[in-house]
Formats: sequence, C-alpha cells, structure tokens
Amino acid sequence: MTVVVNPATEATIATLAEAGVEETDAAVARARAAYPVWRAVSPADRGRLLRRLATLVEEHHEELSQIESRNAGKPISGARGEIGMVADVFHFYAGAVDKRHGETIPVARGVDMTFREPLGVVGLIVPWNFPLNIASWKLGPSLACGNTLVLKPAELTPLSALRLAELVLEAGIPEGVVNVLVGKGSIVGRRLVAHPDVAKIGFTGSTEVGREVMRGAAETIKRVTLELGGKSANIVFADADLEQAAAAAPYAVFDNAGQDCCARSRILVERSVYDRFADLLVTATRAVKVGDTTDESTEMGPLITAQHRDTVASFVETEPLFRGETPDGPGFWFPCTLVEASNDDRVAREEVFGPVAALIPFDDEADAIRIANDTPYGLSGSIWTENGARALRVARALEAGVLSINSNSSVRVSTPFGGFKQSGFGRELGLHALDGYSEVKNVYYATEG
Ligand code: NAD
Repeated sequence: MTVVVNPATEATIATLAEAGVEETDAAVARARAAYPVWRAVSPADRGRLLRRLATLVEEHHEELSQIESRNAGKPISGARGEIGMVADVFHFYAGAVDKRHGETIPVARGVDMTFREPLGVVGLIVPWNFPLNIASWKLGPSLACGNTLVLKPAELTPLSALRLAELVLEAGIPEGVVNVLVGKGSIVGRRLVAHPDVAKIGFTGSTEVGREVMRGAAETIKRVTLELGGKSANIVFADADLEQAAAAAPYAVFDNAGQDCCARSRILVERSVYDRFADLLVTATRAVKVGDTTDESTEMGPLITAQHRDTVASFVETEPLFRGETPDGPGFWFPCTLVEASNDDRVAREEVFGPVAALIPFDDEADAIRIANDTPYGLSGSIWTENGARALRVARALEAGVLSINSNSSVRVSTPFGGFKQSGFGRELGLHALDGYSEVKNVYYATEG
C-alpha cells in the first residue's frame, strides 16, 4: 500500500494499492497492444486529441492545482502556475505533431529520404517535486511522436498523474496509450528499465538513481534521457542592479522550498559588493512568506517528508547568516536559511534540495567562472550584470544547460531544458524534446538501374 500524506498538515489524504512487477508487465503489454492503434492515428488527429487533453487540463485547472498543492505541500499559487504550464505543454505539442518533417538528401541514382519514427513503448519515471509538470514534459513529446507509454509518478506524489490518466481517456486518447502505475522505484521503476519491450526511459530524478537507470538500460540498449540533480550558481557582479538581483535571489532558491533541480543554491557575489549584497539578500529573504499552503499569498511551503527535513538540516553545519521563521504545528517545515561558505564546503558541493543557500565571494570574472564550473553538476544558473558583453561572455563559459541573464527563469514551454555534466543529458521542452522520443529512419529509393 502507498500512503499519501499532505506534507503541510501530515494528514493522510489517500491510501492506494501498489503495483509490482506483474502489474508493470501488464501495463507494458497494454501499451504495446495500443502502439499500432496510436501509430495509425493521423498526425493531425493526434494533435487534435492532445489539444483536447490540454483543454481538459484547463477546465480542471483548479481541481488539479488543489490535488498538487495538497499532495506535494505546495503553496496553492505555485501549484496553479505549474498546472497552467501542463496545459500549455500539451497545447505546444498538439501544435507540433504535424510540423516536423523529414529531409530529402541528394544522392546518386535515386532518392534518399528520412522519416521520424516513434520508438514504441516508452517508460517515464518522474520525481515528487513538480509531479504533473515534469510528467507533462515527457508525455507531450512522447504522444506527439506516436509512442505509447507507462508513466511512474514518484510514490510520494501519485495523485495528479492518476487524475490526468482519467482526463486522457475523456479526451478520447485510446485506451492503453497512457498507463499510470503507482509503485516503488526499486520495483516498478527497475522493471520498466529492465523490460525488453520498453524502448526508452525518460527519467527525471536524482543523479544517484539516474546512474542506476543508465546502467540498467545498457542491458537492452534502451534509449535514456536523464534529467538529474543540480548545484547551480547565481552570479552577482558588482556592476549588477544589486537591488534587483537581491530581490530575485531568494526565489531562485526558496521556490518550492528549495526542492528544485534548478535551485541557484550557490550565490556567488563579487567581493567588492559582498557585504552590501548580503544585507540586501537578508532583507529580501526575511520577506519570503512561509506558511499556510492554502493561502494565495504564501510563497513557500514545507519539505516533502520528515526524513528529507533531517537531511536538509544536516547541511547547516555552522551558525547561519540568516534563519527564517516556520509555522508552529504539524508539517515538515524548514526555514529559509543563508549560510556563508567556501565552494569546498559540503553545502556548496552537494545538492541540498531544501531552502538553504550558500553565499560565496569571488574576486573577478575569471574567478566567478572557475567557481561556478567547479561542480560535478551543470543544470542551470543566472548571471547578474549591466554589462551585456560580460553577460554573454560568462554565459558561453559556464558549463550548464539552462542559463538566464538578469533573471531567475529556467523553464519555458518552447525552449530546450536539460543538463551538462552529471546533471544528465537529453533535452526536454521545445521542439528539441521531440528528438528524444523519435528515431531517424533513412530510406533510399533507387530510380536508375
Ligand atoms: P529519485 O531519484 O529518488 O526518484 C525519482 C523517480 O525515480 C521516482 O519516481 C522513484 O520512484 C524512481 N526510482 C527510484 N529508484 C529507482 C530505480 N532504482 N529504478 C528506476 N526508478 C527509480 O528523485 P526524487 O527524490 O524523487 O527527486 C529529487 C531529485 O530529482 C533531485 O535530485 C532533483 O534535482 C531531481 N530533479 C531533476 C530535474 C531535472 O529536470 N533535471 C527536475 C526535478 C527534479
């Protein structure tokens, strides 16, 4: 049994049956049986069905937002934003279905052409931090390309995916195309990775499990996309608009209570403005509104479990520069925390996945780039400067997949998202994601003897 808890109240909100290996095999068999059916749907009709799904998500926006907020302990305003993006993602891929074409390539004595073919059955394994949002990033391109799928949400947050599965059928997408399994990563996830009839694993989660997925996939030469952890840098140069940078910095770490792969949890500040920026940052962090997740104005909720709270607490090894308030009563709360650190400290090297930011001084542009890149990860990051040439110079030098200049923004529906180094490989969102869910086929047609 999977017991689902609201992290903000510690109340049990659902108890669900758990799938095992047998149910996983049955779901893969259903997806395999539905594959020829789904492939036969014309691209325009596939687009229409995806569009209908997007519209249903919009019609159930509030219901899905409430489910997500309660299940993941998210402030309701954040959950509403995430579900809004889910609908946008389905709209985007609905429009993309019939707009990807093959090529004709000049060759001797014939005609050469390429096709984009679906992979077959894909296994989608997602984490608990943005449950339906991240699932949609994989569902949209999978379905657009003509694949059928088995989706495994995280065991802590299965509720929104289960509701989506009902909306998929309501949209008219044939039975068996989308299968959702509630179950443990160590059982259902592993079985999907090992299953000979699963052509690809689209995985988002920790680098540690990502490694295991990649190893497991080797056995059947499965395709894998890995969206893994991060330890991103927020680089503030002395020539930045410091007020703006300081006002934005807390939300780059404390959004989703820091449980964000893109969290800019290393705040690198040019030494000449370090003290001034630290003061501004403390003031801005003090203003983050933590508490009741049903209140529209709340900005930060609790962590996902009590166990995760203990892990996050273990990273605060010295007296912090700032420690915020948390509500009394039940819930897995942890305060917004700012610590001063060197890039060699554990808090600056490992992914905390909680509301703890490390402030690190740097001397000049070269030093900032060196420190930012001194990490095994390479997911996102921000650069704050009023010098446009420097902004682009630094952006080109950083080893990370998703950067923003004078902004915290990481994710947009139409632009590619994914990591360098041990943050994984493959790209989600935008047209780039379609590459990960299709195979290029080349066909040569001889026209001369
Ligand atoms: P996790 O790696 O523990 O679990 C992710 C998913 O994998 C879950 O559904 C889990 O059940 C499943 N799983 C666990 N063991 C498995 C196994 N042996 N085989 C197959 N599947 C298995 O991660 P989490 O704690 O749920 O999520 C937090 C992590 O996700 C963080 O490291 C975070 O950075 C990362 N993340 C990355 C991105 C990104 O896009 N790069 C986005 C969100 C979260």
